[in-house]
Amino acid sequence: MKRSLMEILACPLCKGDLELEVEEEDSDEIIKGALLCRNCNERYPIEDGIPDLRPPELRGEG
Ligand SMILES: [Zn+2]
Repeated sequence: MKRSLMEILACPLCKGDLELEVEEEDSDEIIKGALLCRNCNERYPIEDGIPDLRPPELRGEG
């Protein structure tokens, strides 16, 4: 995902601002990392450049 996406992304639970945590990035894209919500302490993973902003209960993984 592009860094500029941060301006429009919001936490799906509380609509609060998200904080970017980068593990791996390209010239202008985040490949791997996470989006963190300070409000509800939720963590949304970014895998293969795609942020997974589904609420945790709908993620159904693990
Ligand atoms: Zn939140």
